[in-house]
Amino acid sequence: MIKTQVYNEEQVRAAFEDMLETCSVRNANERKRIEYAYKIAEEAHRGMARKSGEPYILHPIAVAKIVSEEIGLGPTSVICALLHDVVEDTDISLDDLQKAFNREIAQIIDGLTKIKGVFESKNWVEQQAESVRKILLTLGDDIRVVLIKIADRLHNMRTMDAMPSHKQIRIASETMYIYAPIAHRLGLYRIKSELEDLSMKYTNREIYSDIARKLNEKKNEREAFIKQFIDPLKQKLTEHGFKEFRIFGRPKHIFSIWNKIKTKKVSFENIYDLFAIRIIVDVHGTMEQEKAECWKVYSIITSLYQPKPDRLRDWISTPKGNGYESLHTTVMGPHGKWIEVQIRTERMDKIAERGVAAHWRYKGHKSNGKFDIWLSKIRDFLASKDTDSAIEFITDFRHNLYESDIYVFTPRGDIRNLPHGASVLDFAFDVHTEVGSSCIGAKIDGHLYPITHKLKNGDQVEILTSKKQKPNEEWLNHTITSRARTKIKSILKNAKRKEAEIGKEMLERKLRNLKVRFNKNVINELVHHFKMQDSLEFYFAIATNKFDLKQLKDLTFNGDKIVVKKEKETQSINEEIINKRIRDNTPKDDGHAISVFGGFADRIDYSVASCCEPLPGDDVFGFITISKGIRIHRTDCPNANDLRQRYPYRVVSTKWAKQSQDVLFLTNIRINGMDDVGLVNKLTSIISDELKLNMRAISLDAKDGIFEGKITVFVKNKQQLSQLIKKLRAVEGIFTVERLS
Ligand code: MN
Repeated sequence: MIKTQVYNEEQVRAAFEDMLETCSVRNANERKRIEYAYKIAEEAHRGMARKSGEPYILHPIAVAKIVSEEIGLGPTSVICALLHDVVEDTDISLDDLQKAFNREIAQIIDGLTKIKGVFESKNWVEQQAESVRKILLTLGDDIRVVLIKIADRLHNMRTMDAMPSHKQIRIASETMYIYAPIAHRLGLYRIKSELEDLSMKYTNREIYSDIARKLNEKKNEREAFIKQFIDPLKQKLTEHGFKEFRIFGRPKHIFSIWNKIKTKKVSFENIYDLFAIRIIVDVHGTMEQEKAECWKVYSIITSLYQPKPDRLRDWISTPKGNGYESLHTTVMGPHGKWIEVQIRTERMDKIAERGVAAHWRYKGHKSNGKFDIWLSKIRDFLASKDTDSAIEFITDFRHNLYESDIYVFTPRGDIRNLPHGASVLDFAFDVHTEVGSSCIGAKIDGHLYPITHKLKNGDQVEILTSKKQKPNEEWLNHTITSRARTKIKSILKNAKRKEAEIGKEMLERKLRNLKVRFNKNVINELVHHFKMQDSLEFYFAIATNKFDLKQLKDLTFNGDKIVVKKEKETQSINEEIINKRIRDNTPKDDGHAISVFGGFADRIDYSVASCCEPLPGDDVFGFITISKGIRIHRTDCPNANDLRQRYPYRVVSTKWAKQSQDVLFLTNIRINGMDDVGLVNKLTSIISDELKLNMRAISLDAKDGIFEGKITVFVKNKQQLSQLIKKLRAVEGIFTVERLS
């Protein structure tokens, strides 16, 4: 930690006062406790500075402000946020805090400190799954731990500019991977969007600033359009007696716009819904009255603007799993443009903005039913010890985080909430493990369906069972809920264990025959020698005849150790093969000297990935492929997140070394502009004459006075490419110049 040069006490105090204003303190005592927490934190962090140089204490104050103002938590959480870093970073102990406040506060801070330990470790990719597991465990204890942790991360993301770039990327990836999905699931939509945007800002800088710039350019036009849409609506609402309402246009966040560009393969210019209209009415009445008012607003809107029938989303009658309530519709606005309109009440809006915290009661008399169910599912899931690997666990879990929900009914009419794409089997396991494991099909609205059948919203499902039914591996291909998958895996593993018992006995007998002792060391030797995963795998292979016990005859034992015959020979053959492979795969002297890999030798078998075509100067990582050595990807490659998440252990950190002189890289540039004869000439002269670059190909396509083109060119590094793009952009008549990925 850096020491601050000047410590401006007034500035710090003012930040605290400003935070305190956002707190809903009910009495003098609560205020005193918050002041006390501030005093402890301020003294403890005194002399410490953040990377940016500002006093460290401003960070906990800012986190406390997010906690109270943006998440809407109470004084206890504000106190914990103020103290969230003291146990980790200063001499103050949990005991001290328990004495100064109480057990509850000490426990929350303990939870926050524990999560921190995992995150700050170096080998983050491999720790991700374990981290999520930890977060979720604390979620089971006290959800405030996670909410404060999200606030902590949000503030760190907002103030990351002073960090070195590799740290920014690591923290941003982690945020995208863990925090955004959890914020989403907890219903913190606004915070989730901000986290995604901030992550994108650091991992995909260019695209981010490009979209931000374009959004800004169209701002006036957009605002005029929104006004044109809203004005008649305001008038109509007033005519119908609505007095207290807010109506405004909300721009969509950058990350979601980018997603749309990618998934729908349209350009920025062709995205029509860059914003949504939100109408919030203030209703002082019962929930039923609130719903009725929303529908009334809906009918007023649709009397003015034509609705798109298949775009009505009613989360008022059946709120989302995380408590979200709102009515969404898409209508035809002026100039034939489709516009999304969201209708809700002030109460619903609070829930939508602040998530579960807004209606979550800790002391637990009346808690939110749906959220309780979700939490208990997670607890269930964590309690089961049979989640094979942590990575698989998290893949399953994330899947469930982002899926939208469907609602299906039991024969008795109970409603059940499942992720989109859930099958009959998922439903059966949701009802009960017994029902799931003996499920042979389902009767849905009078028709029979197989276990693999995917359920639709509103289905009424009756599960058919048979005592003879047994789960098998195949079932994992037809289930998506964590609950079903965890249960199936655990049943399969138990069955495997039973089978393995038989294998174990067979091995014991065989070893007795061979006069070899049967003990742990010998088993470990054998497992290792035959390259089995573990003893269970080994016993199972024996029981199912996949391993032939005759192979043991070839082994000689010395005590508990195996003496392998012909050991020398095998080794030299392997070496030979490996050396040959290295020779064959090593590209001829064309540039492998330009890259070094963390911990590896200088000259290594590598190639650049065609999906993102990295150049020297780009932030990159290496990915170990099965047969083609290491492949270099850009950190903002469209496949990067996927690779990192699915195969964390195959990712190697990589950086460009000093560049050798004459190595060139192919890169593609997309360009569009006015269709003008002179333009192509200008382009080629900039590339070949001015910058002396070699072009491999150029293709232009003109339509309606506009051309679209792709230029393939050799460059030395990213710097040279940026220079080229800059030059091309400056040409009159050119609209966009982009590097293709
Ligand atoms: Mn912190």
